[in-house]
Amino acid sequence: MNCPNLINPIRDTFGRPLHDLRISVIDRCNLRCNYCMPAEDSHKSYNFLKKPEWLTFAEITRLAKIFISLGVVKLRLTGGEPLLRPGLPDLVRQLSALSGVEDLALTTNGILLSELASELQRAGLKRLTVSLDSLDDEIFRRMNGNKGHASEVLAGIEAAQKAGFTPIKINCVVQKGVNDHTIIHLVRYCKKAGHILRLIEYMDVGNQNGWRLENVVPSRELAEVIGRKISLVRLNAHYRGEVALRYGFADGSGEIGFISSVTQPFCSTCNRARISTDGKLYTCLFGWKGTDLRKLLREGASDIELRDIIAQTWQKREDRYSELRSKLIQNPHPPKIEMFQIGG
Ligand code: SAM
Ligand code: SF4
Ligand code: SF4
Repeated sequence: MNCPNLINPIRDTFGRPLHDLRISVIDRCNLRCNYCMPAEDSHKSYNFLKKPEWLTFAEITRLAKIFISLGVVKLRLTGGEPLLRPGLPDLVRQLSALSGVEDLALTTNGILLSELASELQRAGLKRLTVSLDSLDDEIFRRMNGNKGHASEVLAGIEAAQKAGFTPIKINCVVQKGVNDHTIIHLVRYCKKAGHILRLIEYMDVGNQNGWRLENVVPSRELAEVIGRKISLVRLNAHYRGEVALRYGFADGSGEIGFISSVTQPFCSTCNRARISTDGKLYTCLFGWKGTDLRKLLREGASDIELRDIIAQTWQKREDRYSELRSKLIQNPHPPKIEMFQIGG
C-alpha cells in the first residue's frame, strides 16, 4: 500500500487497516430514491438535522487531519446530496490542502453538477462518482421519487467531463424488475463516453427501503447477461480492498465494475471509516451505534484525545455485517443508521 507519510495504518481486530474515510456533509437530498429514502411512507421519519448539528468545515478538516495521521489516504465526500451543502467548494479546498491525501473524491446524484463541476475542480476535487440508475427517464423518475430527470444528470456529467474530471464513475443500483432490463443501455452509454459504470447490488441499508433478497440481481447473473451482448474479460483488482469486481470490454474500450455486497461480501478487506453529518464515527455501513466525535470536539478535546478515541474505536472493530447478513436479519437489533445520514 502506498502511504506517502510512511504512516503505519492502525488495524482492527481482523487486521484490516484504516485506509478510507467517507464524510457525509449533509443528510438532506433533492431526490427520494426508493432504495435510500423512499418518499411514499417514511418521510416523517427522516428527522433531518438542523444546521448547528452539522459538523462545520473546520471540524471536518480537523478530523480528516487526525484520520490521516492514523493511516487514511483517501477521502470521499458524500451525503445525502453533498452538492446541497452550502459552500462545499470551500471544504474541498481545505481538504485538498491537507498533506497525505492521495485521493479526494465525491459521490453525487448529479442534479446540481452542471452548476458546480468547474468550481469543484478548481477547488482541488480529484474524482467524481455520479449516480444514475437508468437512461430511461420514466424508470429513473420512478426510482427517485419523481423528483429529477435523467437529462439533468447527463448534463451534469457532461459539465464534469468538460471541467476535466475523467474518467467519471457512474453508480447504478440494480433492482430486479425495476431497472435491470435497462442496464445494457447504460453500459453502452458509458462505454461510448468513457465513463466507468459500477453496477451495485441493491442493499438492505437503513430501515426504510423494504429490502427483500428477491429484489437483488446477483452480479454474476448480470455479468452473464451483459456478456452475451458485449464481450467482457475479468480484470485484476487495482489494490487489496477494492470493492468492485472489474471487467474490461474485450475490445479494450473501457471497463465496468460490479459491487456485490449481498452475493459476494467483501468485509474481509473492508478498510473504510465513515463520519455522519452530525459527526458520529461508524465503522460499518450497516452500523447502529456511532462514536460521537462532535461532542468531543465541542467539549474541547485535544487532537491527541480525539486521535486516541478514533484509534481505539477502529482497533475494537469487529464489523462484518454483509458476511453475517442472513443471521443478523433474523435477530432483532436496534435501527441501523440510514444511508442518507452516512453516505454510500
Ligand atoms: N446522493 C448522492 C448519490 O446518490 O450519489 C450520494 C449519497 S448516496 C447515499 C451514495 C450511493 O449510495 C449512491 O450511489 C446510491 O446509489 C447508493 N445507495 C443508496 N442506497 C443504496 C442501496 N439500498 N443499495 C445500494 N446502493 C445504495
Ligand atoms: Fe439522495 Fe443519494 Fe439517497 Fe438517492 S441515494 S435519495 S440521491 S442520498
Ligand atoms: Fe464493510 Fe460493513 Fe460493508 Fe462489511 S458490511 S464491507 S464491514 S461496511
